[in-house]
Amino acid sequence: MIMNSPISHYIIIVIIAGVLSVLLAIYAYFKKTNFSGMNMFVWTSSLTALYTFAFAFELASDSLREIRFWVNIEYMGMPFIAPCSLLLVMHYVGLEQFTQRKIRWLLFVIPAITLLMVLTNEYHHLFYRSFYLRPNVSSPLADVVPDIWYYVHGGYTFGTMFASLFLLFSYWKKTKTIYRRQIAMMALGISLPMTGALLYVLGMVPLGMDPVPILLCITSLLYVLSIFSTGMLTVAPIAREHIFESMRDGVLVLNLSNQIMDFNSAAAQIIPALTSSTIGKKLEHIWRRGAESGAFSFGLDPSGEHEQELKWIRGKETFYYRVRASDLLSPNGQIAGRIIVMIDVTEHTLLQNKLRHLAEIDGLTSIYNRNYFMEKSRELLEDARSKHQPISFILFDIDYFKQINDRYGHSLGDFALQHTVNICQQTLDASAVFARYGGEEFAICLPKTTIAEAGHIAEQIRKQIAENPLYSAAKAISITASFGVTEAVDEAHVPLEALLRDADDALYRSKHKGRNSVHLSNGEYLHANE
Ligand code: GH3
Ligand code: MG
Ligand code: MG
Repeated sequence: MIMNSPISHYIIIVIIAGVLSVLLAIYAYFKKTNFSGMNMFVWTSSLTALYTFAFAFELASDSLREIRFWVNIEYMGMPFIAPCSLLLVMHYVGLEQFTQRKIRWLLFVIPAITLLMVLTNEYHHLFYRSFYLRPNVSSPLADVVPDIWYYVHGGYTFGTMFASLFLLFSYWKKTKTIYRRQIAMMALGISLPMTGALLYVLGMVPLGMDPVPILLCITSLLYVLSIFSTGMLTVAPIAREHIFESMRDGVLVLNLSNQIMDFNSAAAQIIPALTSSTIGKKLEHIWRRGAESGAFSFGLDPSGEHEQELKWIRGKETFYYRVRASDLLSPNGQIAGRIIVMIDVTEHTLLQNKLRHLAEIDGLTSIYNRNYFMEKSRELLEDARSKHQPISFILFDIDYFKQINDRYGHSLGDFALQHTVNICQQTLDASAVFARYGGEEFAICLPKTTIAEAGHIAEQIRKQIAENPLYSAAKAISITASFGVTEAVDEAHVPLEALLRDADDALYRSKHKGRNSVHLSNGEYLHANE
């Protein structure tokens, strides 16, 4: 054969394409990825390499016999490429559950028969009716007259490629824009050899040389690009996207510089500020917008695994989310980004709040119960001591309450308790902790209040109760109460129980001195009925 002819240039290009296919197959084989169709890609590339090298040898052959030999080798690869590509695409679009082994082999039945037909062609001539050297060319090139199975093979190859294209296009519509580039690359990869083969059959390629082996190498390259391009390395193919989209929990995917890379529709429902234009924006941007609108305030630690509860006001409703941030690791163990999962715990939190409320509140009067009073008072006492601030306590007990019960009945007694509580609430401000201490006994904790001020408040309440009888259907029932007041002295470190005992002693004095009166633990009194 003659060197430097167009054919020898072409051979070099074909060999380069073959080498590239081998390299791509090796790269894909050793590259760790979570894409399940990867072995299908290795097969596609290896078969392409086999086909391409055999084609190079065919071009370099000197005799018809030699050409015929390399054509046989070509057919060991070429007919199997299209069905392998179809399987690859099926994996890619998440149809792997349909590509079970049994069904897979069916795709290779016709290619296997094709190979058999080519190998045994001289006995039946059903593939090539004739196979001869192209006349009047300087280097030996084969021309063929096709027969029936040649068309079966061609039709089957084109059919499977169309099926691949169809699958890709039907998923194009369903998928997000960021994945469409990859799908387009795959579709281009499939269309290229189809177009090449068509032009070749129509005699529209220079020198009448088959461009398909070279185009197939470009196809492999496009496959690799679409499988490994940015998102696909760490984020799984479309199948996973569907799961991602159908999740009830909101998910945000961030890169290492905290830019939003992806989010699912549940996340967009939780955070309306998430739109397609948010992709690429910093996460802080979204948080800031939320905080500005008053919906929520939230700071996220830039690293590490952690969980936070987040209260979110949307319209008139309040939602609670458990927000969990964790590192997103690539298959080789390196941090590729961050993933933020938002789980709706609104129901759970509301129920929890209700239970907590039930545990802290007295059922009859809807003020705090004794347990909560003790807990909260201890906290406030400690706080006051550390800040050297005054803190005072009032205990009061309704006078002759048994008589009210006896005379008007127990349910009216209940009313009297509620009535008394209402009167107190009008006098007390929000900083006071007001609780039902016992049956008809109440306690008040007053932070930042001296004994003198507390005594004054007690006196106000006493007066209000005495001046506001309970009006029942029959008549006005006058109610009075007796008060004991004490203050925690900063240096003394007296425990809460002892302070309340002091207040109770003062209360006892009020009872003793004619009731409807206020006594302080320091022996003073503001009102006495003696
Ligand atoms: P004193 O002026 O000495 O306090 O007289 P008192 O009758 O109020 O004293 P005592 O402690 O003997 O009586 C309190 C009564 O309060 C006894 C109990 O039946 C009643 N009582 C306790 N809890 C409730 C309640 O939830 N509802 C009603 N209606 N009565 C209650
Ligand atoms: Mg009483
Ligand atoms: Mg009592």
